[in-house]
Amino acid sequence: MLLLCFGACAQTESSRAEFALGTVCSVTLFDQSRDRVYRDIFSRIHEIENLMSVNIPASDVSRINAAAGIEPVQVHDDVYKVIERAVYFARLSGGAFDPSVGPLVSLWGIGTDTPRLPSQKEIDEILPLINWQDVELDPHTRSVFLRRTGMALDLGGIAKGYAADEAAAIVKNSNVKRAIIDLGGNIVICGEKKDKSPWRAGIQNPGYNRGDIMGIVNITAEHSRAQTVVTSGVYERFFEENGGRFHHIFSPFQGYPADNGLLSVTVISHNSMDADALSTAVFVLGYEKGMALIEAFPGAEAVFVFEDKTVRTTNGVKFALTDNMFRLVQE
Ligand code: FAD
Ligand code: MG
Repeated sequence: MLLLCFGACAQTESSRAEFALGTVCSVTLFDQSRDRVYRDIFSRIHEIENLMSVNIPASDVSRINAAAGIEPVQVHDDVYKVIERAVYFARLSGGAFDPSVGPLVSLWGIGTDTPRLPSQKEIDEILPLINWQDVELDPHTRSVFLRRTGMALDLGGIAKGYAADEAAAIVKNSNVKRAIIDLGGNIVICGEKKDKSPWRAGIQNPGYNRGDIMGIVNITAEHSRAQTVVTSGVYERFFEENGGRFHHIFSPFQGYPADNGLLSVTVISHNSMDADALSTAVFVLGYEKGMALIEAFPGAEAVFVFEDKTVRTTNGVKFALTDNMFRLVQE
């Protein structure tokens, strides 16, 4: 989760927040508080949730999951687009990002009232179901087929980003000059600040206590080209059992929460869906492979925070530490 320092713009903002996508979604439109723009943005977010939530039985994603191993399901264009992009990032990350993690998400139940540490046997039984290569897309019929019974999609690692992009598109097509869209930590910044200074996005201290920031990234956005800041971190959702802490970003290879010395990965880019998938992918890949993925991805930058309290960034990030418990390492 990221916090923003509004600085000079604070006087003319108006904000609205609603609960959607399993989190608090807040939108701040500066200078103009247009009811219609707020309404359009939130109805678009709810529309996307209704299509893509695994917790809504009539959603397209739930229908795909219910038909796993049985038949392809025709879906809305939004759903097709997000699944197609999710599969693209699955291929790009060698399966570290995998939209078919649904059975793992259900088995662990992290974020529900009844999370639990599954047995190795239970994990071994479902691992063969986690395979993006068994997600079949048919561009002619716009249908999606999960080849094996028991498979399930979960778009929790990418769909908030899509919703944030769609909200930003509504801002771009309105007469609102600047806006901040924050969908549970998926932040999109539209437009320049009034005084033309950069926006300042705070990166949360990824200790398990919510609220504090440990550094600030300067962001320059334009009205025609929004910027997004997306973090995947261990602190978002986790539970504790047997003295261990278990978070919600899984290695699809091991079936356990990814454990490679990282506490959080923040991706800065133009497209929030891509940044969302990348932050999750890079978190699973770990620093070296993750850094290589980001460097090969046009327009993406990243900040990596490690368990040993070191911080590393790509070359293009304007990052400053604010908490001296951390140490910035330049390589
Ligand atoms: P990210 O790092 O972006 O993503 C982590 C999430 O991605 C995990 O929670 C899991 O869902 C998935 N994931 C885990 N490992 C991988 C992997 N290796 N590859 C790909 N994906 C992976 N939460 C609720 O509590 N109740 C709800 O009703 C609810 N509805 C939602 C509906 C939609 C459409 C969406 C997009 C999210 C919803 N959520 C809901 C939240 C969701 O369950 C995730 O917790 C949230 O999206 C995680 O976002 P993040 O930014 O913390 O982490
Ligand atoms: Mg993500």
